[in-house]
Amino acid sequence: MAGVAIDEGIGAASGQMSLESRLKALIRETGPIPVSTWMTLCLHDPHEGYYATDPGLGRDFITAPETSQAFGELIGLWCVEEWRAMGTPDPFILCELGPGRGTLMADALRAASVVPDFLKAMQLVLIEASPALQSKQADALAPYRPSFVESLEDVPAGAALILGNEFLDCLPARQFVQTETGWQERVIGLNEKDDFVFGLAAADIPAEAHVAPGHEVDLQPGLDTLVAALAGRSAPLRALLIDYGETDAAPGDTVRAYRDNAQVDPLSRPGWCDITVDVDFGRLARLARAAGLDIAGPVMQGPFLGALGIEARMHQLIQTNRDQASAIHRAIAQLVEPDKMGARFKVIGLSSTGLPLMTGMG
Ligand code: SAH
Repeated sequence: MAGVAIDEGIGAASGQMSLESRLKALIRETGPIPVSTWMTLCLHDPHEGYYATDPGLGRDFITAPETSQAFGELIGLWCVEEWRAMGTPDPFILCELGPGRGTLMADALRAASVVPDFLKAMQLVLIEASPALQSKQADALAPYRPSFVESLEDVPAGAALILGNEFLDCLPARQFVQTETGWQERVIGLNEKDDFVFGLAAADIPAEAHVAPGHEVDLQPGLDTLVAALAGRSAPLRALLIDYGETDAAPGDTVRAYRDNAQVDPLSRPGWCDITVDVDFGRLARLARAAGLDIAGPVMQGPFLGALGIEARMHQLIQTNRDQASAIHRAIAQLVEPDKMGARFKVIGLSSTGLPLMTGMG
């Protein structure tokens, strides 16, 4: 999670070389690379990385805040509730991980403006790896004067509310596979035609892989970093993380690539497609508990938004935009219906100890 350690990109000194050529050179020099390295470089290479250059929000995937303004608005009201539950600290940090176009935060702060003291006490801090998206966020959120930091470790001390929607699924995964001769790591190498291919290689296998329920397990080291950074903060803290993944099972092989709303081969064109992984919420909860954090959930997104009052908000929106009633209805259904985003997406709350129960977690 911490800043992506690729400031210069691989082989950047070689100037004009494409990411594909640089990846091939890297593999020829050092041997096949883990899936996590592939993901990091394809997503964040400063010259051609998917997020760094041309993140296709809306083109390749549509997130909840981009689906309906009600999503961000309800999260804004959730923030106000949780700020009160913390004892209305002033100042406090409101931090978002991977804010995309800034839509969630803009909707959240518009809704939260019904409590002016909340906005007055808030210091907005954004963590965003992509320079292209940073500039969109700076525009969308200019009235709130956001500051940008590289990682959670750089967020100033003090009481904090932390949000992340579809952030965790971007954290690169290492993939471990049980073979007849024991556990191995999935890697990417080159075949005789010089095309990228998946393979398996001996590796240091984390103890967790050995006790995984299936024969394959994806482990995101970024979850460990995230939990350590949260647990390392001393002031009251509450984080709300929303993403797709399983509640309590290790997910198996879940690395997927998307372009133009369709699934594509993750090895097809480096930097051209989004690459994501299902979040193992069970593992995240275990890590957080072991680090001394309180956990709420994970619960499904549909019931969570229901508890925050999405139905009532939908009716208000329809009242004031009658000509768009069916589009509003469709968008909300997309967020809450179990066969759409309502069940596949989970919500987890991680808090410092001693705070009241979390709003919306039933
Ligand atoms: N939260 C937004 C965008 C989700 S897409 C929404 O719901 O619409 C994922 C976001 O996380 C993008 O903004 C991407 O650039 C950012 N991101 C991915 N990996 C990151 C990392 N390691 N550090 C900071 N930001 C990252």
